Amino acid sequence: MLEGIGEDIHREGLLDTPDRIARMCEQIYGGLYENAATHLSKQFHATNNNIVLEKDITFYSTCEHHLLPFYGKAHVAYIPDQRVAGLSKLARTVEVFARRPQIQENLTAQIADALEEYLQPKGVMVMIEAEHMCMTMRGVQKPGSKTVTTIVRGAFAEDFTLQQTFLQMVKG
Ligand SMILES: [Zn+2]
Repeated sequence: MLEGIGEDIHREGLLDTPDRIARMCEQIYGGLYENAATHLSKQFHATNNNIVLEKDITFYSTCEHHLLPFYGKAHVAYIPDQRVAGLSKLARTVEVFARRPQIQENLTAQIADALEEYLQPKGVMVMIEAEHMCMTMRGVQKPGSKTVTTIVRGAFAEDFTLQQTFLQMVKG
């Protein structure tokens, strides 16, 4: 890539850059080698079957079209059916899917799919608010604009008041 943009690849500051980027990729694309099951298969019995919401989960991902960062907050909720996961595991699940080349729409759905598959809850709702560097430092250059995506499944899809409760809990 450095050659492609016309850089002098023998310049001192760039000598270690390919190696540095390779090591960085292990971290920022590490989700490709992880499975959400690792985090969500450890479960606890619960008698309280009301909404569980983990909100404001900060994440960093990479858009698969430009390999530029997009980042923001994920809000992940589910309605348990006797089984709950550890709270930190919801954040871990977000990381598994964020740390790979992504688009926000699929990131949102993949988190919801994982919760459905491993926890088999009564409902799932995921909302992601993110700023995309490919929208701000290139292209239309609209800094501060946010892309918001949501996914609703099960009880959240059937019951509009549950969606409103989710939104109130996220904003509250
Ligand atoms: Zn992009």
